[in-house]
Amino acid sequence: MKIPVEMPVLVTSALPYVNGECHIGHLRTYVPADIYVRILRKMGYEVIFISGSDTHGTPIVLSAEAQGITPEAVVERYHEHFKRVFKELNVNFDYYGRTDSENNHRRTEEIVKKLIENGYVYKMRIKQAFCTSCERFLPDRYVEGTCPFCGEIARGDECDQGCGKHLEPGEIREPRCKICGSTAEFREQEHFFFNLSSFAEFLTSYLDTMGGTLNARNYAMEWVKKELRDWCITRNLEWGVKFPGRDDLVVYVWVDAPIGYISFTEEFIKGEGEDETEWGKYWKEDKTTIVHFIGTDIIYHHCIFWPAMLKGAGYSLPDAVVASGMVKIDGKTFSKSRGNVVWTTEFLERFHPDTLRYYLVSHSSHTKELDFSWDSFFMRVNNELVGILGNLVHRVLSFAYKNFGVVPDGDIEEEVFAEIEKTREEGIRAVEDYEFKKFVDAVMMLADFGNSFFQREEPWRLIKKGVQGRERCREIVKNVLQILKAVCIPLDAVMPDKMEEVWEQLGMEGDVHSVKLDEMMVPIKSGQALKKPSKLFERVEV
Ligand SMILES: [Zn+2]
Ligand SMILES: [Zn+2]
Repeated sequence: MKIPVEMPVLVTSALPYVNGECHIGHLRTYVPADIYVRILRKMGYEVIFISGSDTHGTPIVLSAEAQGITPEAVVERYHEHFKRVFKELNVNFDYYGRTDSENNHRRTEEIVKKLIENGYVYKMRIKQAFCTSCERFLPDRYVEGTCPFCGEIARGDECDQGCGKHLEPGEIREPRCKICGSTAEFREQEHFFFNLSSFAEFLTSYLDTMGGTLNARNYAMEWVKKELRDWCITRNLEWGVKFPGRDDLVVYVWVDAPIGYISFTEEFIKGEGEDETEWGKYWKEDKTTIVHFIGTDIIYHHCIFWPAMLKGAGYSLPDAVVASGMVKIDGKTFSKSRGNVVWTTEFLERFHPDTLRYYLVSHSSHTKELDFSWDSFFMRVNNELVGILGNLVHRVLSFAYKNFGVVPDGDIEEEVFAEIEKTREEGIRAVEDYEFKKFVDAVMMLADFGNSFFQREEPWRLIKKGVQGRERCREIVKNVLQILKAVCIPLDAVMPDKMEEVWEQLGMEGDVHSVKLDEMMVPIKSGQALKKPSKLFERVEV
């Protein structure tokens, strides 16, 4: 999607659910979102980048009970953990909030009241799983049983092992209590429903123009065509946002979680000291572009439930939903219990964060599944980062530093400018299509071109061939340094630490992070002092 340059952009990244540590499956959404934001800024856009911890719902309450601590304590621990991981990975949110903030409670209540006022919420008595030995109703993950659609073992709110369908309260068959294991019974209770089915027509036309990746739009379209079932939006829990006027019920976590996007925008804007009505520019007046980065497992929530809720309460709608494919490990689905998982902190103890950022976008197209394996990681680092990029940087800078010490004189050749301009254009097109792999591939092709240009022109021979040879050698070196500068600028979005190192070695002024893509075509200044080059990447091994 091409965004009008004068439009501020709000980019959000799906909220991590804070009842466990960050694994690389999480990063498939956060890292590309961060890269996208960095490139948009390099294209001249004004961007706000927000996310936060998803803190409510039954899994957190269950872990708290199991550990004998409060849900707040669970949230606090992993909220800090995720913040630390994002910092280490250079995923730079302008604001990272949490959905249990006072502000998010208030905003959620306001939106739910609006939905009630506008006639989109109704009451109904439904059968709910109840455990007689625990003497409590069993919402969502407190229940296990059989999926009514496919017969597989399912959790209370989702058939996670089988058909993947969302399950409404009371739908699961043969319910068992997860706390004590005894068979649960169904008891009637009053709950509140969101009239999602009345939004079918609206959703059809909304999805028709919604930007983002096709996987998101197509999945959502299919659901709308098949059937939209009303959502039960209340749960019997203590922990959460109270349903207006009911002390015994909280809203379903999928109500207050996406509302976090609005609350965090508000909190960020207030923190910046701006007029607090400024957030309305984003969420009320439709004067900005809103882009959600999510995983394919939550398309339903972001492309159906969320826009219907926004529409029903009179808020602006997201302009694009970008859904990343899921991560597998050696061809197998992620599973903590089966040990099939790669923890981010362990990864970062051994490898530079930039190598992981590079791998996550270069290994497969954004909407496709990413099959992680150590072999493929080592191959990308050794062949591409060490072999192509590191080689270019080290060879060229060492030669230039040894023979000239500064960026030499000379004109940039047509061939080189043309190659750089092609890379810039391809890069921008790729980003507009959310094809981050194509983006890095285009820049790596330019690095590859730099290597072959250097090899072809043989400056190490020229320098020994008298005055004329030396003159030509200067020109060649100047051109390859230009290529290096042009590689650095876009690749900074992917590997900010490493590209800053190259930027410094090139003797450039200021940091590379604020440099726009247009600068790729600006000739590197002759006479600026080069720094003694050091190795950019180390080979990695088992
Ligand atoms: Zn099923
Ligand atoms: Zn029980």
